[in-house]
Amino acid sequence: MASKNLPFSKEQIEKIIENHPTPFHIYDEKAIRENARYFKNAFSWNKGFKEYYAIKAAPNPYLMKVLREEGFGIDCSSVAELELAKRVGMSGDEIMLTSNDTPANEFQLAKDLGAIINLDDIAHIDFVDKNVGLPDTICMRYNPGDLKEGNLIIGHPEDAKYGFTHEQIIEGYQILKAKGVKHFGIHTMVASNELDSDYFIETAEILFNLIVEVYEKTGIKIEFANLGGGIGIPYKPEDKAVDLEYVSAGIKKLYEEKIEANGIAPLKLFFELGRAITGPYGYLVTKVRHIKNTYKSFAGLDACMVNLMRPALYGAYHHISVPGKENEPLSEKYDVTGSLCENNDKFAIGRMLPELEPNDILVIHDAGAHGHSMGFNYNGKLKSAELLLRENGEVTQIRRAETIKDYFATLDFEGLNDFSV
Ligand SMILES: *Cc1c(COP(=O)(O)O)cnc(C)c1O
Repeated sequence: MASKNLPFSKEQIEKIIENHPTPFHIYDEKAIRENARYFKNAFSWNKGFKEYYAIKAAPNPYLMKVLREEGFGIDCSSVAELELAKRVGMSGDEIMLTSNDTPANEFQLAKDLGAIINLDDIAHIDFVDKNVGLPDTICMRYNPGDLKEGNLIIGHPEDAKYGFTHEQIIEGYQILKAKGVKHFGIHTMVASNELDSDYFIETAEILFNLIVEVYEKTGIKIEFANLGGGIGIPYKPEDKAVDLEYVSAGIKKLYEEKIEANGIAPLKLFFELGRAITGPYGYLVTKVRHIKNTYKSFAGLDACMVNLMRPALYGAYHHISVPGKENEPLSEKYDVTGSLCENNDKFAIGRMLPELEPNDILVIHDAGAHGHSMGFNYNGKLKSAELLLRENGEVTQIRRAETIKDYFATLDFEGLNDFSV
């Protein structure tokens, strides 16, 4: 039977549920730290290597504090995410702003924090210059167009809204140099949830070639290359994780051939991964509320797509474990649903599981990135709590569950009395 491991036993999770009612997300601190170290070690040959955690994947300051302690920076793309970075105590080159369609106040806050600003468009050079003034360091996002095939979530680069064209980015460096900018970076991101290790080596090659070209055409020595996010995770038990050591070795070879051989080293390598950093180490814990048998069998949970949208949104596979029933046969076929008045509110369709009954605990895997954070309040559904399973086995609540009061907080019911119809 294809299976995935859990960092807790049935008895342990039952104990946690005594204090924290389902549904909730729980993150495994030990596994997050071990993975962070593995990733850093894989690229330790590159001096200045840094991973900027794409905070949109799980915007929780407690998780960010753990990752910061492991030496990670933060990748932000909104005012709220920059504010979160600030409240965690981050500043300067610990922060990267990679946003698009960016408002002036976001550039301003990034500049005030000393963050690295990554421009998405050639028109943003003038926009930043006029509205907040250009900082000494600027990065630009490259869209390689038809040099690169896209993947399912992002699509073909030519159709993507992100980044500068090849011609624009060369011109961009010339303009920025003329305006007195001193330090330069380059960024690209053309994939999401990609499991093909070679894909990331090819992406590095495209960037390294461009870095050589920029040096030849403008004399600028680019100081850092941000290879973006997009490393996938093995959602299915049979999927294979990206081999970071293989990716690192492939990139190192290209670094020697293109960057060192052309005399433009050192070049610092950055990533801004979200999914690959926390995705596999977060779990949505939920209970079966009802079993319904009509033309099909439905297991209705106390969680819904508010807690994890990916299956409903992309038809994404998320593995489901039933603690205590690991050794029972997968004899029943269920649509595993939430309670939204939306028929696509399903965590799985036609999934073979052990026979379920109300109050069974279900654990939905790989919810540690783009899980809780994507949730919404449609249908008056409330977002759940987030818990951190500490290395010593204790549990810390790192976000409380929303209440009805939170849901109505933006409405003025008193004003309703003065509102005549
Ligand atoms: C979403 C995003 C990321 C993180 O993507 P993952 O798939 O979680 O690694 C990184 N950078 C940018 C610009 C993004 O939009």
